[in-house]
Formats: sequence, structure tokens, C-alpha cells
Amino acid sequence: MQNAIVLLIVVVAVAAFLLLAAGVDQGRLGDLPPEGGWDQIIDSSFEPVACPIADRSLDDTHYTGPLIDTHIHIAAIPDDLSAPDLGHDGRPVMGVNIRMTDYVCMMDTEQTSKVFAFFPVWEPIVPELLEVVNRTMAAYPDRFVPFLMPPENDNSPGGYPTVNAETLQTMLNAYPGLFKGYGEIGLYARTGGAAALPPDAERLLEIYPVVRERGLLVYVHLGEGQKESFERALEDNQDISFIWHGDQLIPYVNGEQDLSNVEDILSNHPNAYYGVDELYGDVWLLRPEVSKEEFLAHFADPEPLLEKDLATWKGFIERHPDQVLWGTDRGWSAPWSVDPDVALTLNTYSRAFIGRLDPAVQEKFAYQNAENLISTLSGTSILGN
Ligand SMILES: [Zn+2]
Repeated sequence: MQNAIVLLIVVVAVAAFLLLAAGVDQGRLGDLPPEGGWDQIIDSSFEPVACPIADRSLDDTHYTGPLIDTHIHIAAIPDDLSAPDLGHDGRPVMGVNIRMTDYVCMMDTEQTSKVFAFFPVWEPIVPELLEVVNRTMAAYPDRFVPFLMPPENDNSPGGYPTVNAETLQTMLNAYPGLFKGYGEIGLYARTGGAAALPPDAERLLEIYPVVRERGLLVYVHLGEGQKESFERALEDNQDISFIWHGDQLIPYVNGEQDLSNVEDILSNHPNAYYGVDELYGDVWLLRPEVSKEEFLAHFADPEPLLEKDLATWKGFIERHPDQVLWGTDRGWSAPWSVDPDVALTLNTYSRAFIGRLDPAVQEKFAYQNAENLISTLSGTSILGN
């Protein structure tokens, strides 16, 4: 009898412990593998977040109008839910350490109307990644301009920075009309991975007709020495708008960035657009090696940084007022790159920079050129918020 009571107590205690443990574990962001599989990861990606009310006072030297950020990377959900260390390398993993709602909070905090968003889509989770895009556009149709970003084994030798035209068609067919752009495609060589892919390579020549037929924008990151190849692609596809960024065509001459190649391309090709997204005093900061604390500390004294950035970019932007776009390249390096305090700091700096441009070009650079690109696709203005 006594043994039976002891046994009962043990059974009840074990059951209670298991129930409690299961309850504690359920639904916590970062617990993998989640019982609900990818559905749960995708649900987690849209969980509401507590977004702080921004407290910022801009003076009249700042640009205070609308902004469209034309360079935002959306993190991918994990392709292997059983991997034990997801997100532990500090990189953003959707539904694990970053959410779509964090991106929305970022925009709300800094008062950016919308973003050109590069959504990764790759094997073996193509349908799941496409569902993230579809759900995003259903929830926030005015905040994201979705670009399809499909690399193909770009980390392995023999891989490609992008899929072929046929695979691209299949991805675009899943949700007709969902995507507004194709990119960002990094056409440079990967260390130990894919070789460089020139803009007029066979694979891309087969892709441009697909892009044309669907009325998509193209966003590329050029590789070294691809100026002539890019110009051939621009020349042969004058009805397609190409946006590019990256410093591969910008050599340092006497310690200054020499923008003459970029200017050359913009002057000769009205369908070319350049994205300026490294505005922090000629230093590249949004990369995995830089901590959030270092990033924020960098802006403690913005004046010398502004002077450097204005020296590099002001004349360039003013000489090509209809072809240069503001962006920030956030969302790929670390989850904190979309945090509200980072958003406020970086955005206040961007608004100070834009406020010192010629008043006639400020709005063009901040949002109008981007909006014009969107309008050419849909035929109407869709600037929201
Ligand atoms: Zn990028």
C-alpha cells in the first residue's frame, strides 16, 4: 500500500514536470526544432512586437519629408529546422531571431514609408520562403516593394549567383504579380564559391526577357571590371530599369573614392540607377564584424562624418538628380541592424545628410526617384503612409 502511494506521487510529479516543461517550451522564439515545423516559424515571423514610440526632434537642417529605403535584405527562415545552432552565429534568421514585424517597427520608428525588400528564395524550401513573401504583402501591401532574390549554390564552386530563367519562371508563377523586382543579385565572384557572372552572360541574357515580360525592376551588385558588360546589358535592354550598388567600379584615388565610372554609366544610360547606401563617413559599418555598440558610438559626433559623405556624394547626387536612390543595406548582417534605436540613429544621420543637398534634389533622392520606378510598373502612385 505504501509502495503504491510512493509510486503514485512519483508518477504525478513526473507528469507535472513534463507538462510544465512542455508549456514553458511552447512558442518561444528560438526554440528549435519547433513542434509546428515551418508553419510555426512563419507564424513567429509575424508575431506582434512592442514597438517603442520614437522620441526624436529634428531641426530645420534635417530633411523631414517621406523616405523610401531602396536597399533592405529580408532574412530567410531556416532551411534545416534540426540544425542546433540557428542564429547563434549572429546572423539574422527569420522567425528565430528576427521577424517581419521588426522590419515594420524599424520603418515606423524612423518614418520610412516603404522599402525595396530583397526576399531570398532557394532550395529546398522554395514554397515556404515564397509564403513569407505572400503573407508579408497580404499584411503590409504599402510598406514592402518585394524583389525576388534567388541564388543557386552560390557558396559552392560551380554554383551561380542566381538561378536560370526556367527556375525563375517557376518561382514567379507561384503567386502571379506578387513580385515587383528581381534582385539583389551579387554578380561578383564568391571566395571559394560561385564565379563572377557578367551582366551580359548567357544566363542573364535568358533572364532579361522574363523580367521584361513580368515588368520587373532589376537590382544587381556588380563585380570587378563589369562596367563594359553592364553597359552592353543596359544598351540592349533599354526598356528595363537596372539599379546597382557596390564599390567595385569605385577605385580610391589619392584617398578619395573616384566615382567617374559610375557617373559615366548614369550619363550614358537613362535606364541605370545607382543606390547610395553607405552613408557613415566613408566607413563600411553594417557588417557582421561590427557590434551594435560600435555602430551607435560611431555616430556620437556626426559632423566630421557628414563632411566626408558630402564631399564624396553631394556633387554626384546633384549631377544625376533623377538616377540616384537612397538606401541602407540593412537586414543581412545582424538582427540588431533593424532595431529601433539603430533605425533612429542611422535615419537621423541620413536626414541630416539629405538636408544639406540642393533643395531641388532632396525629395528626388529621398523617395521620388524610387516612387517613379514603382509607378512605371503599376502605372499609378502607390506611396502610402
Ligand atoms: Zn545588399
